[in-house]
Amino acid sequence: MPEMSDGPQPRLRPSDPVQYAKGIGPVRAEALAEVGVETVEDLLYYFPRRYLDRRNIAAIADLKIGERTVVMARVVGQGLKTTRRRRYFQVTVTDETGVLVCVWFNGIEWIRNRFKVGDQLAIFGKVEYYKHLQMIHPECDLLGEDDETPQTGRILPLYPGTSGLKQKGLDSRRFRRVIQGCWERLVPVADHFSPGFRHKLGLPELTKALQQIHAPDDDAWVGKATHRLKFDEHFFQQLLMALRRRSLHTLPGRKFPERGPILTRIYRDLPFTLTRAQVRVMQEIRSDLQSGRMMNRLLQGDVGSGKTVVALLAAAIVAGQEAQVAIMAPTEILAEQHYRAFRALTTGVDLPLALLTGSTPRTERETLLADLQQGRILLVVGTHALIQEDVALKDLALLIVDEQHRFGVLQRGRLMDKGVYPHVLAMTATPIPRTLAITYHGDMDVSILDELPGDRRPVTTEVVGADQLAGAYDAVRRELERGRQAFVVYPVIDGQAPSESNSRSGSADLRSAKAGFVHLRDKVFPEFKLGYLQGRMKGTAKEEVMQAFQAGELQLLVSTTVVEVGIDVPKATIMLVENAERFGLTQLHQLRGRVGRGAWAGRCILVQRGGGEEAARRLGIIARTADGFEIADEDLKLRGPGELFGDQQHGFHRTQLIDLANDGPVIRAARQAAFALIRQDPQLRRPEHRPLKQVLKQRYRQQLDFITLG
Ligand code: ADP
Ligand code: MG
Repeated sequence: MPEMSDGPQPRLRPSDPVQYAKGIGPVRAEALAEVGVETVEDLLYYFPRRYLDRRNIAAIADLKIGERTVVMARVVGQGLKTTRRRRYFQVTVTDETGVLVCVWFNGIEWIRNRFKVGDQLAIFGKVEYYKHLQMIHPECDLLGEDDETPQTGRILPLYPGTSGLKQKGLDSRRFRRVIQGCWERLVPVADHFSPGFRHKLGLPELTKALQQIHAPDDDAWVGKATHRLKFDEHFFQQLLMALRRRSLHTLPGRKFPERGPILTRIYRDLPFTLTRAQVRVMQEIRSDLQSGRMMNRLLQGDVGSGKTVVALLAAAIVAGQEAQVAIMAPTEILAEQHYRAFRALTTGVDLPLALLTGSTPRTERETLLADLQQGRILLVVGTHALIQEDVALKDLALLIVDEQHRFGVLQRGRLMDKGVYPHVLAMTATPIPRTLAITYHGDMDVSILDELPGDRRPVTTEVVGADQLAGAYDAVRRELERGRQAFVVYPVIDGQAPSESNSRSGSADLRSAKAGFVHLRDKVFPEFKLGYLQGRMKGTAKEEVMQAFQAGELQLLVSTTVVEVGIDVPKATIMLVENAERFGLTQLHQLRGRVGRGAWAGRCILVQRGGGEEAARRLGIIARTADGFEIADEDLKLRGPGELFGDQQHGFHRTQLIDLANDGPVIRAARQAAFALIRQDPQLRRPEHRPLKQVLKQRYRQQLDFITLG
């Protein structure tokens, strides 16, 4: 007779709401939802941000100023302090070797109730000295008596916390307990990789990796588990790339077998000969257009390498065979400039060409839309609004996207939903480090323009302090006196400096474009004609200023970064950048690409007004090298991929494990494995690949867009 008992606890499935995990409940589940943890599985993928073990804990007596480190210490006193200037909360701790003071200027109300005297804490922060050893706004974790602390040899995971989580008692200790509790009740989770695959790549089993990342047996396991879980993310990303690439390649692409009459004609009239790089890239594009497969190409070329002509020639092939081309630029100014460049290079060629932007007057717009719909216009230049809204093209066969690479790819998905299947050529002057390129554009073919036209030399760049400003102005004046033109660029439009939360950021002089313009016009260069341009101006106003500058009616243009990409003014030979330390390196590199585009050498003067040695070092890199890839790599290391890619790309990865600046080897291994797998089993039909398909469908549904899976 079966014995009656409480029975086993109900089993927990990864897809269950996280509130069913022991120790969570609805209130904590709400706090977890705010950090994206909704299911039990999400919780298992909420990884520690760092580990505490015997080897990385420093004794307070050994702390070095300036170092970032962890100490373990007991609270011996705390309290609110007020000086004439500010209020702060102070927690004093000791570890028997010395005393450390932790200071909070912000979040006082929250921190003051967090600890009590006698609490044992793990404290992570930067060591400073002000009357005592101190850390400002350190991260603190409460360690319990029941924690097996690193003194006893365990490695203790510490979880990323927010005040929301901590208010609900979800500190590292609770995370450790809850996650341990999950494993006791969790149904066995199958690994999406087969044993053979894991063996070949030296990857531990999934459940083991997940257990070890939360409760590592030793240091080696931290490494192995992290590697496996990182590999997973990169692998699925690459699997998507491989699938997308294959999907595009299996769709028939419109064939353009001939060069066509328009290309021949434009080519004959070109005022210069193409560089070898331009010729090579044209061959790559032509062969795509001839192949009968969809073009999906990224054209990378440093500023001034001559991408616009390539775009026009590619467009000419398609238009010459009576199909339509749309060219999209990120701003109206650039759309207008492309349009003018195309007009200039197609005089005497029968190529129906139009410009369509937000500023196109309504009546003109209506005629234009009708012309596009009926195919009377073959080449249309515009902003992204072109492809959105009400614009319908009769026969769009090629989409060229300037400076918004990923955007073009996503846009294609939407067009394909409407039954439009254009070839896509994306162009970028942002040199993309290889690891980023294969992560974000791994589905595209890449062409590189690695040669500057003519005898153009790199722009000479120097960094000066605010005390050398007079000399810099003299240099600008000399250029203007010779009939050349100049840019002065500011990081901000008007005087609102971003609020600085603590005094350590110093008092960088944030002179704005607006104030700078007035000062330069009235006080420094009264004898010259100055213009002012910033991003929030109306389209027509911007257009007028740009045209006046391009026509030479204005000699000096004061602006924010709106001049960043693509503006082409051959007589502009000198650029002065104010508060240069506030720009990213890639941004500076693109900015300086605006000068020295004509017959004369360019010069760029970066004025550093803050940021100390670190900023000086960064700016030194810009001054030293003209190699966009080197600069991009440095940006990636210093500022992460956000500097190179817009915010919409941040949701790309599931966990915080990914570190694109250092994951090169993992990314390459994942790419190789993913592409090999798709070559063997393009639709993931084999039984052993079914779990992979399932992960894609569940976790990456939105990114599957036009991918077809069997
Ligand atoms: P980017 O790659 O930055 O978009 P552009 O296409 O605007 O560069 O070209 C920069 C300048 O170089 C333009 O004035 C363009 O007319 C000129 N140019 C392009 N190709 C050549 C070439 N092969 N020889 C001489 N000048 C060229
Ligand atoms: Mg350009």
